[in-house]
Amino acid sequence: MNIILLGPPGAGKGTQAHRLVDHYGIRQLSTGDMLRAAVKAGTPVGQQAKAIMDRGELVSDDIVSALIDAELAAMPKDTGAIFDGYPRTRAQAEELDSLLAKHGRKLDRVIELQVDEEALVDRITGRFTCAECGEGYHDRHKPTSVDGVCDKCGSTEFKRRPDDNEETVRHRMQVYRSETAPILPYYEEQGLVSRVDGMASIGDVADSIDALLDA
Ligand code: AMP
Repeated sequence: MNIILLGPPGAGKGTQAHRLVDHYGIRQLSTGDMLRAAVKAGTPVGQQAKAIMDRGELVSDDIVSALIDAELAAMPKDTGAIFDGYPRTRAQAEELDSLLAKHGRKLDRVIELQVDEEALVDRITGRFTCAECGEGYHDRHKPTSVDGVCDKCGSTEFKRRPDDNEETVRHRMQVYRSETAPILPYYEEQGLVSRVDGMASIGDVADSIDALLDA
């Protein structure tokens, strides 16, 4: 199973991808996570990407496609992939087709999470994750049960993304509208797109995605 999750920042792609990994035993390929890891490790790619990410702009197509290529090369062929945050431009969508063919895969479905942009700003600016296990939380909508303690692993360390401030979030949405949303027709022509209401609860969005994938 090879699936793309598409939607603006904060639509719930990461949350749903995590769940699909647990549920179907497939691998999440998030270029955002890979780039953040590269920034943290101080690699040449990370050094190049950091300022671009902090501004909410797009890192070059070549860099992100090379990251995906390396991940696919290292994965067993029968392990499914869920692409989260990639592709983000038409050039990346075309490159992904070549990469899938190169690695003996084919795209099964593109799931678009449809959301209301104003609600997203609220969602994103309140979100944080456990620094230990990556569980996602939100100041208002999903706080930890015990203040300052992760429900899942008990860690007391949390982190927030530097690009999750309102100004950068609005810019990231504009980039989504101008660069990423236009790739939907490319997949529509191939009959691969399904739409899910991303404003529903996390559980309901998950149920809708499962229904699509199990159909
Ligand atoms: P994300 O975690 O998917 O929201 O990505 C965070 C940031 O990483 C984005 O705002 C971009 O700067 C960069 N990034 C992640 N994925 C891509 C991609 N496929 N193409 C270009 N830039 C990306």
